[in-house]
Amino acid sequence: MYDNAASRTTLQKGGITYVTNPTSPLVLVNKKRELDSGYVPNDLVKAPVEFSFSGDSPKQQMRKVAADALGKLFAGAKQDGIELKAVSGYRSYPSQQSIFNAYAKSHGEEEANTFSAHPGQSEHQTGLAMDVSSASVHYGLEQSYGATKEGKWLEAHAADYGFIIRYEKEHEDETGYMYEPWHVRYVGVTVAKDIKKLGLTLEAYLARF
Ligand SMILES: [Zn+2]
Repeated sequence: MYDNAASRTTLQKGGITYVTNPTSPLVLVNKKRELDSGYVPNDLVKAPVEFSFSGDSPKQQMRKVAADALGKLFAGAKQDGIELKAVSGYRSYPSQQSIFNAYAKSHGEEEANTFSAHPGQSEHQTGLAMDVSSASVHYGLEQSYGATKEGKWLEAHAADYGFIIRYEKEHEDETGYMYEPWHVRYVGVTVAKDIKKLGLTLEAYLARF
């Protein structure tokens, strides 16, 4: 049904595995499955939410379906008295490249690889991910966010709006990334609720089909 099997959704080129279904809301991007350097979603819009910074930036964008869902998620939070702000959404391949290169320079490539994505391996390039934070952690992206009331609300309610917390603490080995309580990924309500109920990573969930 979801047809995300590696054999059907990837293509080997020059020793790299590229995903061939970048526009699927269930596209699986990780350290083993890359987006082409030229992939840019064709339906990016500014998410209808408040941001942690002022001024216009491509970081405010997501694909339409994800942006609409994020707007509803933030409105739901507000109704519960929870203040969320969006920090970083869409990121192009070249901008991911400069971020990773800067981290590799300051931390070494191996360490940088544990907390920053190689260009092509970032979900932010799909336009389906947003980093979210709150005043309680000064709009930072840090693991302590998971223990704040806003982080807990996000964990509890994201699935109701079609999002998953993509990089969970107990699944670091599976996802290849450290715990990121701030990074939400749109997959649609049905799948998000399923993933939450089953306690799976997106990797493990898609491997079942
Ligand atoms: Zn992120």
